Amino acid sequence: MLYKDKNKQEKYILTSQVISFCLLAIVILVAISFKDQLFCQMGYYHSTVMFAVMLPLIIMVRLLSVQYSNILLEYAVNIFYFLLSAVFLVLLSQSAFEILLIMPVIIMALKYGTKHAVYTASCSIAVLFFVGYRKAFASIDSDLMYFIVFLLVAWLIGNMRDSEKEIQRKLERLASHDGLTGLRNHRSFQLILDEMLDRAEKRKEPLSLIMLDIDYFKVYNDSFGHQKGDSVLKLVAAIIRECTPEWGECARYGGEEFIVILPGKTMEFAKAIGEQIGSKIENAKVPGAEVLPKGRLTVSVGVAEYPLIAANKEKLIQKADEALYKAKFASKDKVEIYYSVFDELSLSLMEGERDLLNSIRTLTMVIDAKDRYTYGHSERAMQLARKLAEKVRLNEEETKELCYSSLLHDIGKIEISREILNKPAELNAPEWEILKQHPQWGADIIRPMQSLKGTVEIILHHHENYDGSGYPKGFKGEDIPLGARILRIIDSYDAMTSDRPYKRGMTEAQAIEELSRLSGQHYDPFLLEKFIQILSE
Ligand code: GH3
Ligand code: MG
Ligand code: MG
Repeated sequence: MLYKDKNKQEKYILTSQVISFCLLAIVILVAISFKDQLFCQMGYYHSTVMFAVMLPLIIMVRLLSVQYSNILLEYAVNIFYFLLSAVFLVLLSQSAFEILLIMPVIIMALKYGTKHAVYTASCSIAVLFFVGYRKAFASIDSDLMYFIVFLLVAWLIGNMRDSEKEIQRKLERLASHDGLTGLRNHRSFQLILDEMLDRAEKRKEPLSLIMLDIDYFKVYNDSFGHQKGDSVLKLVAAIIRECTPEWGECARYGGEEFIVILPGKTMEFAKAIGEQIGSKIENAKVPGAEVLPKGRLTVSVGVAEYPLIAANKEKLIQKADEALYKAKFASKDKVEIYYSVFDELSLSLMEGERDLLNSIRTLTMVIDAKDRYTYGHSERAMQLARKLAEKVRLNEEETKELCYSSLLHDIGKIEISREILNKPAELNAPEWEILKQHPQWGADIIRPMQSLKGTVEIILHHHENYDGSGYPKGFKGEDIPLGARILRIIDSYDAMTSDRPYKRGMTEAQAIEELSRLSGQHYDPFLLEKFIQILSE
């Protein structure tokens, strides 16, 4: 809420409490001036000292009760006030000052509502009764009037406060929760994430973020209209809420994007929750889901973790978003943990090489941006290449060259227009001729960089076929560099399993079947066998 306004209210209440103590002090000073019996005995000095101690004490206790918003402290302050009043009211001859007993009632009514105001009013009445008894009920008429006034004030202000609180609660909920799904909205998600990150930092704990986006939701809306789409959003939100642990938080981040915060948990845990949500959504009964490309409703999920891979809120959201993006463009309907081969590679590099790696990263980002349907392709290729390199026991130098080549193999596509790269249909012959130039162009771009010279040959030949039918040189069998033969397989596999605008990606089994069909023609049979072994592992 409106925390500032809450603080303002606190300030008003504190001020009124201090003022009521000051009034009590004035009562005493007046009594002294009129040479009341008690204060003539006590004298100016003692009564001043008493108040000099009491006032700071009362302010301190009040501040503590504000800080810890503890009602017991509040009652402690009131009891102190009542005791003091009781003593003075009994000893003073004037009785008009009894009106001061209303102050705690007003304060409690303003702060805590009817219930506590009535309790406090009862205490005030008890004090009055005690004072009246000590004075042999000399002014019973005014005492009775006070009783009624105290209770009336407690009831009236308390009830006003209660209804104000209720309205405030409703307004707060309207402002912080999404009307359609009932989940937290974007703004309130940001606030709660700030709070949870602060806590995680203090406790030195991790915090994971799950980001979800419904796949092909536009298709669903276009087929059945937005109202039906809204019902699906509600359903998805209900599943997400059901799968979010009590101590976690979930929110609607945007149109059909949702987010789950899991304080104290690592990415592995978050991934499991993401998968649980994914499978519940897939199995949910969604009317008309058959029109969707996958035949059922699916979500793509990205996961990131603080502080392991993101040091602050903005980075955390960005990394979860990147992971989600990867899941989307790999094949959707997938949970992807944030992972960057660049982050990992850069750990094992020396200072000079790191600059080189950053340049490579920028170049691959340019290709990703241009050819958005292969987003993350270079990174995935590198992950697979490294595994295959290990399997066929390449040495460290060869492995490194292969990794860099995998990252850079499509760099020549920088020269090719977006229209060709993103064409939503098969390419025609002249376009194919242009696309086939990219290995040569890639090699030309890399050749001047001395420290990358080992990658030039691999990039140049990564589209050669084992039977000599490939391009650009038509090399055959073992004439094709080993790295290029490895990359040929991996590049094809990732292309087959990724979605394209005009066709859906194959499943792993379908891709293996297709690769095997072309074994010996496009692919080195020995390497292909090893690759299939890796996939089955
Ligand atoms: P992708 O698989 O790549 O995620 O494709 P998509 O069709 O889901 O594309 P995208 O995430 O960009 O689409 C967002 C769509 O969500 C656009 C809009 O029609 C729909 N949407 C956003 N907010 C609402 C909403 O409040 N109600 C409904 N019914 N639809 C919404
Ligand atoms: Mg979507
Ligand atoms: Mg979206």
